[in-house]
Amino acid sequence: MTGARILDGKATAATVRAEVRERAQGLAGRGRAPGLTVILVGDDPASHVYVRNKDKAAHEAGFTVRTLRLPATASQRDVEALVEAQNGDPAVHGILVQLPLPKGLDAERVIARIDPSKDVDGLTAHNVAALTLGRPGMRPCTPLGCIELLDRHGLALEGREVVVLGRSMLVGKPLAALALERNATVTIAHSRTRDLGAVCARADILVAAVGSPRLVQGAWVKPGAVVLDVGINRLPDGTLAGDVDFEPARERAAWITPVPGGVGPMTIAMLLANTLRSAERAATPSAAVL
Ligand code: NAP
Repeated sequence: MTGARILDGKATAATVRAEVRERAQGLAGRGRAPGLTVILVGDDPASHVYVRNKDKAAHEAGFTVRTLRLPATASQRDVEALVEAQNGDPAVHGILVQLPLPKGLDAERVIARIDPSKDVDGLTAHNVAALTLGRPGMRPCTPLGCIELLDRHGLALEGREVVVLGRSMLVGKPLAALALERNATVTIAHSRTRDLGAVCARADILVAAVGSPRLVQGAWVKPGAVVLDVGINRLPDGTLAGDVDFEPARERAAWITPVPGGVGPMTIAMLLANTLRSAERAATPSAAVL
């Protein structure tokens, strides 16, 4: 069979999760099991699925998990108070507020309430600044998962042309910063970029984080490139598609992630890894660097 090798996020995530579980057992044996709180506001069906998956993965890793639900009618104050209560609980090492929040709630203000040392999504201003400044801090899970996937397949970033499609605070911008930290030459493309195909064709490592099914055409992929497809798009027939037109891209790439089974599972694995590290720091106060 010709074409790219598959960057199997599901298998790699399973390896990471097994490592996390082992270290979590060590902490639990000392009465310090990692604690994760997931806050879910409202009835968004996709959010419910994501939260269920995170809850299950954290349980399997041996964490103490709390999933706290508020109705869509909850006030800004209700949500912020819930976050603050978790900040003050020493058994909680990670707090995740599932986004998007229902209309009328200000997600930025809610996130600002999270103690940066428990901000396992890496979205507080403190942690965004830490990434930009190259200081230790919590890194966002999806970009971290992309880097981990490359690392565990021996795919180096240093000196490579990395093109990141998308500039969100959740994926595109932090991913670009992480790639830069690894000495890649980074281009960020977005909806105003001219000749997207020509920009993508420069990439040794092409990351698509757009939310537009099959936007990236096979012809945009440089022969031998590594393609990471972050996009998760639900098609009218109910199936999932990434942001990359998989089959034609696979013909040209050296490595490519599938959707599903690529970056998605790595995101959850990194959520566990971030929570574990937070718990380890809490158990060893002298190691706390945040
Ligand atoms: P987002 O906040 O909507 O950002 C999308 C980015 O794509 C924006 O920067 C936008 O540009 C750019 N864009 C939109 N249309 C474009 C086009 N035609 N050409 C070039 N750029 C375009 O989305 P996000 O939160 O980053 O998520 C992106 C995708 O990743 C979604 O499918 C999401 O479901 C998925 N996702 C997956 C995971 C995972 O675990 N696998 C995690 C998070 C997100 P402008 O800034 O100019 O508007």
